[in-house]
Amino acid sequence: MTKVKTDTQLKTDLKSLTKAELSTFLEELGLAGYRSDQVFQWLYQKGVSSFDEMTNLSKDLRAKLDEIAEVKKIKVHSKQESSDGTIKFLFELDDPNAYKVEAVMIPDFYPDGAANRLTVCVSSQVGCMFGCSFCATGKMGYFRSLTHGEIVDQVQIINELTEERFDKKITNIVYMGMGEPLHNYKAVVESARIISDPLGIDLSPRRITISTVGLTKQIKQLADEEIGTNLAISLHAADDKKRDEIMPINESLNLEKLEEAVKYHFMKTEQPLTYEYLLFDEFNDSPQDAHNLVKIARWVPSKVNIIMYNNVAGVALKRAREERLNKFMKTLTDQGVTATVRRSRGDDIDAGCGQLAIREGQEKGK
Ligand code: SF4
Repeated sequence: MTKVKTDTQLKTDLKSLTKAELSTFLEELGLAGYRSDQVFQWLYQKGVSSFDEMTNLSKDLRAKLDEIAEVKKIKVHSKQESSDGTIKFLFELDDPNAYKVEAVMIPDFYPDGAANRLTVCVSSQVGCMFGCSFCATGKMGYFRSLTHGEIVDQVQIINELTEERFDKKITNIVYMGMGEPLHNYKAVVESARIISDPLGIDLSPRRITISTVGLTKQIKQLADEEIGTNLAISLHAADDKKRDEIMPINESLNLEKLEEAVKYHFMKTEQPLTYEYLLFDEFNDSPQDAHNLVKIARWVPSKVNIIMYNNVAGVALKRAREERLNKFMKTLTDQGVTATVRRSRGDDIDAGCGQLAIREGQEKGK
C-alpha cells in the first residue's frame, strides 16, 4: 500500500467533529458503527493522540486514518500546587499561536485524608470579551474559543492525574474557568455531552455545571437541549445599577431579561439553579443588597453561593470583611434562602474565582 503524503493542514482533526459527524466521517470510509464507537473511546476516554495507539483497529485502517486525519491534543505546560491541595494546570493548545488556558482541580478530603469530591473548573475560551471589572481573565481580552475537544482534553488529562494520585476520577465539573461558556455555546454543549457519554468521560450530567454571566438567548437554548446539566448564573450584584458598574453585559441584558430567561429554563428543565455572588467589601454586601438578592433567589427554586473573593491586582473591589459576610448571610438564611459560603481555594497560586489569567506569551495572531 502506497502511503500518500498529505499536508497536515488538510487533515481533519477528529476532535473537531461532533460524535454524529465522526460517525458519518468514518462511515464514508466504509467503517461500521462499532468502529466509530471504538475511535470515539480512544479519543476521549483514553485520550490518545496518534492512530498507532488505537490498537484494536487494523494496521491498514490506522494507516488510512493517518493519511486523511489527525488527532489534536492539548498538553500540560506547567502546574502549580497550593498548600490546600488545589492544583492549577496551565495547558498549551495545539495551534500555531500556542495559546494557553488554565484549569483548576479542587479536592475535598474526608477526615481520614481520603479524597471525597474532586472538582475541576475548566476553561472554555482563551481570554474573554465580557470585561467584568473584577476578573483577571476579562482584563486579557478575547483571543479565541476552544473546540469541544480542547475542553474535554482538560478533563481527560486531569482525570489521569487524579486516578494516579487519589485512585479516583473527577467527581464534578464546573465551566467557570477562563471565558464565558455560553459565548462558545456549540463547543460547550458538545463537550458536556462527551463528558457525560459512557464512551467518553462517563460523568453524570447532574455533576456538570455550566455557568454564564446571563446570556439570555443561550440560557433558553440550553433549556431546550435537554442536556441535563446544571446551570449557574454569575450574578455578583442584585440590582441593575451595581451590576452595570461591574458587569458590562448587564447594560444590554439586564435583570428583567435574566429573570425571564431563568424562569423559562426552570419551566423547561424543572432544575433548581445556582447563583454565584462574589461578596465585595462595601459594594454589594449591605443589608439592602441582601434583600435584593433574596428577591432574585425567589424567581425560581435556587441556591446561592456567596464566594469570598481573592483580591486581584489592579482591581479596586476587595474581599468583604467577615462581620459584613455574617450579617449578609443571616439576612439570606432568615428569609429562607439556601445559601453557602464558598471560600476561594488555592489563594497562594492565584487559582480562585476571577483570578485566572495568562499574563505572558499570549499575543493575538502570533
Ligand atoms: Fe469573562 Fe466570566 Fe471573567 Fe466576566 S467573569 S470577564 S464573563 S471570564
